[in-house]
Amino acid sequence: MELFEYLDRYQYEQVVFIHDRPSGLRGIIVIHDTTLGPALGGCRMWNYANEEEALIDALRLARGMTYKSAAAGLNLGGGKAVIMGDPKTGKSEALLRAFGRFVQGLGGRYITAEDVGVSVADMDIVHMETDFITGVSGGNSSGDPSPVTAYGVWHGIKACAHKAWGSDSLAGKTVALQGLGHVGYELAKLLKKDGVRLVVTDIDPERVHAVRAELGAEAVAPEDIWDVPCDIFSPCALGAVLNDDTIPRLRCQIVAGAANNQLREEKHGQMLKDRGILYAPDFIINAGGVINVADELEGYDRQRALRKAAGIYDRILQVFAIAERDGISTAVAADRLAEERIRMMKEVRSIYVHKERKPGL
Ligand code: NAD
Repeated sequence: MELFEYLDRYQYEQVVFIHDRPSGLRGIIVIHDTTLGPALGGCRMWNYANEEEALIDALRLARGMTYKSAAAGLNLGGGKAVIMGDPKTGKSEALLRAFGRFVQGLGGRYITAEDVGVSVADMDIVHMETDFITGVSGGNSSGDPSPVTAYGVWHGIKACAHKAWGSDSLAGKTVALQGLGHVGYELAKLLKKDGVRLVVTDIDPERVHAVRAELGAEAVAPEDIWDVPCDIFSPCALGAVLNDDTIPRLRCQIVAGAANNQLREEKHGQMLKDRGILYAPDFIINAGGVINVADELEGYDRQRALRKAAGIYDRILQVFAIAERDGISTAVAADRLAEERIRMMKEVRSIYVHKERKPGL
């Protein structure tokens, strides 16, 4: 991989390799773009097969965060950290504190948070060494983001309904819901209140059983969810679920769910459009999580976080308007929404002001 060529192509600002021999820390912090503010993104600890895999993951995830935060209207850039190692056996106080010191050394250009393999308890240790952190325990903690994510997805689904059927009402609609985890379960409860007929699936039979009992949902086997005749398919489990095999099987008018990176490849956004299926781009509709954690930076206020997550309704409609304006898929339109905001802010920032204001503004 030609690193600088890649950095140039996607306009990365900074890649930092971090290493601490005594604790065994080997990691990479990537700052993609800080036009809108400090780069916020979680720290992932993972048993990567090799260094290149770790680097590619960090690069891809950092860029994704730029787009997600920009499109969500946050004054934050995109970044990500990865630590190479087994999250079950490789963590120690020394390793986490060493990581924290490297984050502090970046002077606030990067703000870290939890991600796969890293817990709130770990973040509390990292916090001993850095101020540039979210997702720690205590009074200002934003807590589990999943209910806020689900709330944002629910508003996004209503925006899709408005576009497709001219009304926000979901009463009597059928939603095929894949994944009944933290977000999927919360979303199921919100949809049920709306009078939706729920058809659900999960690889964990206990979760399916619980949702059937509590919400009166119907259930299908995981491999059958694609074929369910429904109004809305809501992927809330894994990524890459929209692909050459699954898109032809879908029997819905709308795809709108919480999962990250739903399209296996870029072309699958166009494939959905060609099938006449309205797709709510994942990083727009699932931004409730980052909105929630970003609120911590201002002193966490749950009601404000929920209000901002409700704004996903308007943002989804904005994406659909861009798609129509430019004759492109909604997936490409979502990128354009983020890019337009970054470009606009670059221009606004070129106006001279005498005094430095709060960082990020
Ligand atoms: P989770 O791990 O709590 O839930 C995922 C659920 O999907 C589990 O119940 C799992 O058993 C099920 N699942 C896995 N494979 C499946 C399959 N093949 N078929 C059916 N079900 C399957 O995760 P979560 O926090 O609810 O997140 C769900 C998705 O939303 C993920 O893609 C995540 O990246 C994304 N997301 C979550 C948040 C958040 O706030 N938690 C924010 C943004 C995006």
